[in-house]
Amino acid sequence: MTTLDRGVVRLDPHSLRVKRFSALTTMVLPLLGTVVAVYLLVTGRFTAVDIWLLAGMYCVHIGGVTIGLHRYVTHRSFKTTRWMQDLLMVAGGMAAQGPLLFWVATHRRHHRFADHEGDPHSPNLHGAGWRQRLRGLWYAHMPWMLSEESTRWSVFAPDVLRDRRLVAHHRLYPYWVLAGLALPALIGFAASGTLWSAFTGVVFGGLARIFAANQASWCVGSICHAFGRRPFTNDDHSTNLWWVAVLTFGEGLQNNHHAFPRSYRHAVRWWEPDLSGWIIAALGKAGLVWDLHTPSPALVSKRLATAEKTGKD
Ligand SMILES: [Zn+2]
Ligand SMILES: [Zn+2]
Repeated sequence: MTTLDRGVVRLDPHSLRVKRFSALTTMVLPLLGTVVAVYLLVTGRFTAVDIWLLAGMYCVHIGGVTIGLHRYVTHRSFKTTRWMQDLLMVAGGMAAQGPLLFWVATHRRHHRFADHEGDPHSPNLHGAGWRQRLRGLWYAHMPWMLSEESTRWSVFAPDVLRDRRLVAHHRLYPYWVLAGLALPALIGFAASGTLWSAFTGVVFGGLARIFAANQASWCVGSICHAFGRRPFTNDDHSTNLWWVAVLTFGEGLQNNHHAFPRSYRHAVRWWEPDLSGWIIAALGKAGLVWDLHTPSPALVSKRLATAEKTGKD
């Protein structure tokens, strides 16, 4: 039996309804919140606090996903203290990208089968014509979350299942999502003491932030497996796109990441935008994280040279 046979199950009708309801909720509500945010912006009914909440919560959201869910838990690229782990898991939960075990198992399956049969969100498995390519891009961006399949946690995330503290964060996921809405509401209320400012806090720092940050995140799975530069020859279609890397704090360097999945840095050259990698390096200097995994410069140079040679052949 292959890993794919063992690792993927077809959901029963009830579980599928629950999965689709929760996925659609986290797609549609932030979209509605964004429409309200745009209306408030256009009509001038917002304050500087709302904009700061949007920007600040965006940073917490992307940091929680990239440093916490992705580099810390999924790829085990560094170690940290319990309270830092808790902080990262709460921030990651606030992103509303699904419970921890779902996130980790799905992403590990993406790496295991990248752009081959079994990849849960490849844009490259829908045919070669331009219509099929467009359909693939759209599927990899959002509708893959509504799929009838489910990735088995026992196959792709047994280490997380064994960690009681991480399992607790998995179970607390709905509360962390709500905390991500309550926090900007509280800050908004504290700033001017009115229910209206609490409401605009939720709209900007909660819903519009989830929409904007998740659209950027999902570009990693869709666009960064279709368009962009490929400095390394991986067995997939992963690419580096600088503007996605800027918006996602380094995740848009997807070709680098697929070449060295366990590295805490996604940048392999100093000028590549990788804010999460820079933050982890700074936390390492402060002694808050340790055992940082990164490939040796010699290995990176060798892989780059191999890719250049393959490109010329
Ligand atoms: Zn990828
Ligand atoms: Zn990864």
